Amino acid sequence: MIETSQRHIPFFKAVFDGDELRLIQEVLESGWVTTGPKTALFEEQFAEAVSAKYALAVNSGTAALHLALEAVGVGPGDKVFVPTMTFTATAEVVRYLGADPVFLDVEYGTSLVTPDILSEAIERYGVPKAFIPVHFGGQAAEMFGMRGKGLVDIAKDHGIAIIEDAAHAFPARCQGRMIGNIGDATCFSFYANKTMTTGEGGMVTTNSETIAQRVRIMRLHGIDRDSWKRYSQIGVPWEYDVVAAGYKYNMSDIAAALGLVQLQKAASMKEARRRCAEHYLEQLGEIKTIDLPAVRVPMEDHSWHLFPIVLNNDCPISRNDFIRKMNEKGVGTSVHFKPLHRMTYYKRRYSLKEENFPVAERIWRGNVSLPIYPSMTNEDLRYVSELVAALCLSPDESKSYNVDNER
Ligand SMILES: *Cc1c(COP(=O)(O)O)cnc(C)c1O
Repeated sequence: MIETSQRHIPFFKAVFDGDELRLIQEVLESGWVTTGPKTALFEEQFAEAVSAKYALAVNSGTAALHLALEAVGVGPGDKVFVPTMTFTATAEVVRYLGADPVFLDVEYGTSLVTPDILSEAIERYGVPKAFIPVHFGGQAAEMFGMRGKGLVDIAKDHGIAIIEDAAHAFPARCQGRMIGNIGDATCFSFYANKTMTTGEGGMVTTNSETIAQRVRIMRLHGIDRDSWKRYSQIGVPWEYDVVAAGYKYNMSDIAAALGLVQLQKAASMKEARRRCAEHYLEQLGEIKTIDLPAVRVPMEDHSWHLFPIVLNNDCPISRNDFIRKMNEKGVGTSVHFKPLHRMTYYKRRYSLKEENFPVAERIWRGNVSLPIYPSMTNEDLRYVSELVAALCLSPDESKSYNVDNER
């Protein structure tokens, strides 16, 4: 059943098959490589893509989160709710500001913080200064209530700022609205393996002029206007003022040139990832020893950054053996995530106990993400699915398994 010819299918592969080189060449020939006209254009087009009033480009998703939290006034001693099922960046930025992350368990199947989880956390830990929902894998959290109150409603009731971690969620929608114009601010990542990349990069989007203004100043040393404007406007004096001890988080025009081209391809790349997800959902649906991601939004509203599965208790192989075997067959996989309550720094500092995160623990025992990216072919997808079946099905079940079964 397994093809004998070995394939090499990496976990992720970025594709630069558009005008990337030409736009980068333009930047180089212009002689201005740091933040400048390409960054300004990228911001304008990105703001439009997510229907936000403001988009501020920065040099990482982590910088975006840091600046957004700073702009809503998170400071020493404040509490900020974050899911435990996320990358450390979501929580480390809280520490940058001297505030403390409070880790929340997530929902099985989606790895999202639900409105119920948020409400319970408020009862248990009190009202935090801010909450960072992570749109895990590219599926929007329940920002607006489907039955009762949504995350936004609950946050409004208590005056909690919502800073969205949308590192996985471009382009994605929540009940018809683009992720990027819902919370107080939304933070995107253009890291190398995200749904679109600038090599390294990030973006803060917001509808708040106050937040936009603060992010704009703090991303570049606390200077009250950016240097390109300073040097390009005739009659503007050289002089500038520093109004805060800001950071050095601005995006270069080289990165923005990449971003402009990737942005144009974002919709088609997303469609290609959706095709991968549909293949997996179809081809893996019969395997009872794995749990597929629960899809709560229309397929086309999901950015399909990840395809995370969970090897459940009935699975004949452990997660780590599964990863090793897949690797031996040429298939790269990854784990999203080892929950933060298990990481030494957070575990020690906040005396975190595994039993307080039963769902994240259940996910963690078997979670593994399969390759998903636009250039995957149907043959690649079939190869991965057949390997998963061979490793996870019981001997009985595997006799009747056929990826081409029509149901
Ligand atoms: C990648 C990622 C980030 C950080 O983005 P960088 O651009 O790498 O700084 C933050 N949160 C989540 C959930 C991520 O996956």
